[in-house]
Amino acid sequence: NESEVLLELDNVVAGYGNLVALHGISLSVRHKEVVALLGANGAGKSTTLRTISGLIKPSAGAIRWKGQGIAGSPPEAILRLGISHCPEERHVWPEMTVEENVELGGYLLNSKVELRRRKEIAFHRFPRLRERARQLAGTLSGGEQQMLAIARALMSEPQLLILDEPSLGLSPRMADEVFDVIREINAHGVSILVVEQNVHKALNVASRAYVLETGEVIAEKDSASLKNDPELLNAYLGG
Ligand code: ATP
Repeated sequence: NESEVLLELDNVVAGYGNLVALHGISLSVRHKEVVALLGANGAGKSTTLRTISGLIKPSAGAIRWKGQGIAGSPPEAILRLGISHCPEERHVWPEMTVEENVELGGYLLNSKVELRRRKEIAFHRFPRLRERARQLAGTLSGGEQQMLAIARALMSEPQLLILDEPSLGLSPRMADEVFDVIREINAHGVSILVVEQNVHKALNVASRAYVLETGEVIAEKDSASLKNDPELLNAYLGG
């Protein structure tokens, strides 16, 4: 059901120690939807993603997954429910091989057969990773490491993939490749919530976007109308 709301944040407050980074964030992601989170540095985009995936516990508000409250659940439980977080700056293990990194994404699986099946799907989708399966992840290019991080995040076969700055530090060509991969993953029915500093690329892949400023949602618009709102883009996103 395309209109089914998968994820819903309702007035979520969260932060780090005494610092409140999110002052009541409300947003939703529907089945098969691509949603972008935009905003200047420090607006709270990464904190929002970390709160969804259980790395930060909200101090107030609700997070619902298919209507069920998940705020405060540990990251592993949230991963099991079908939410996979691909963190900022890739975080692949440079001293481990590409294949070992991919396998880590399937750490919740008990079945070796299933692990092999999913690895095969990953290498089928990312042939360059298959070619480099035995190579240390640290020897990959930036773009390849990003692909590896995405491949690893897909090993749990999530219904919602959360991506933090997937094009960070990549050449324009590599960034385009990453966005092609994001489109393809979505075409397979996976919902996507993406934080992206490249507003243009984000709005080309997302159908809707939220604009964050200092821990608050200041706008929610479909991508087409946001593209035609230079005032908003200039004011909050630096053009
Ligand atoms: P950026 O693109 O710079 O990562 P962002 O929109 O993702 O920006 P966050 O990283 O969520 O913003 O930061 C929101 C606020 O929380 C900022 O004031 C930031 O300084 C603070 N913050 C982020 N991470 C931590 C942390 N680990 N410890 C303490 N404060 C943090």
